[in-house]
Amino acid sequence: MSSNLSSAARISVSDKYRPVYADDLLTLQNTLERPLSGTSDVVGEYEAKLAAWFEARHAIAVSSGGAALSVAIYAAGVGPGDDVLLTPSCPLCTIYPIIAAGANPIFVDTRRHGFGADPESIKARITPRTRAIIDIPMWGYPTEVDELQGLTRELGIKLILDLAHSHGSTLNGRPLSAYGDLSCFSTHERKPLATGEGGFILTDDDQLAQRCRDYSRFGNLNGKDFGLNYKLAALPAALGANRLDSLAAQIEQRRANATYFLQQLDHSKVREKVIIEGGRTNYYFLNLELHFADNRAFIDYLDEAGIPSDIKRYGCKALYEFPALAQYRNDCPNAEALLASMTTIPVHPDITRAELDYMAERINQYGAP
Ligand SMILES: *Cc1c(COP(=O)(O)O)cnc(C)c1O
Repeated sequence: MSSNLSSAARISVSDKYRPVYADDLLTLQNTLERPLSGTSDVVGEYEAKLAAWFEARHAIAVSSGGAALSVAIYAAGVGPGDDVLLTPSCPLCTIYPIIAAGANPIFVDTRRHGFGADPESIKARITPRTRAIIDIPMWGYPTEVDELQGLTRELGIKLILDLAHSHGSTLNGRPLSAYGDLSCFSTHERKPLATGEGGFILTDDDQLAQRCRDYSRFGNLNGKDFGLNYKLAALPAALGANRLDSLAAQIEQRRANATYFLQQLDHSKVREKVIIEGGRTNYYFLNLELHFADNRAFIDYLDEAGIPSDIKRYGCKALYEFPALAQYRNDCPNAEALLASMTTIPVHPDITRAELDYMAERINQYGAP
């Protein structure tokens, strides 16, 4: 009933990357002999290593990516009743910290071709209460952070970047984080740099760095400055420092996998999402642009073939479509169209040539008689 290809063995492709780091155990063992709290030198050494790797002046390690956002939002001067702009094409993780701060999340649309916030939409929806915008490059694909840097300076608001997917992605040869006033990262298990749970903030601004540090340490318990405890503990910091040494090579492997996959891909209705000029993605996930009459049916077909999609896994849709966020609805047709016309392909370093071939074959066959 089916062609040779479609009767070929089904492979279940994993979207989870579980690298084995030879030095992890020794690193943890050595760290156990040192102070283990968030003020340990172990954490300071990790922060220095992060700052060097990402070419930032300051790195502040915190307990999660969500914590990084909460700390950055506070450092940016956002308080109760203030507005924070963001695109609705991001995960729920990005908006909850805004709401927790007592601020109003205001959705702005993306551009038509990618997940960067659209300057026209920003200008239309900014108010005197707007303190900051969060831009979220999804799956590692760079957004126009250079233009946003210029625009936010002009408008007098802070540019916060949620780079939880984008470790190692660059624009014009510089890390994306170089363009944000405050750049937030997650090192959750699934992210390109993984410490189980964890996160960090990068900034080149001394004052913002100090505000981040103070806030994440209960305001240094001085009774003058407010704060909460968002510190990262020493053990995950030690893991992060050890694993950072492998990150560049892992990203190169992701890029090689993506290049190979795209060479095999041959379907008139499927192509890679456009990478903006001057941009380089880390290929956290490869993004495919879909041009079928029913894109969801294609994603379901891949899922049945053992090829997972982040779109399906997380039920990606504009955030205001979720019941808890309906009150913030602000129509963003570009963002809706983007999410409805794409899927993700895993290209992490554990993905084999056979799996890349298999995924491309299954796509190439779709809809063939
Ligand atoms: C994972 C993620 C977060 C949250 O990070 P945690 O470390 O899980 O708190 C925030 N934003 C984006 C875009 C993410 O992917």
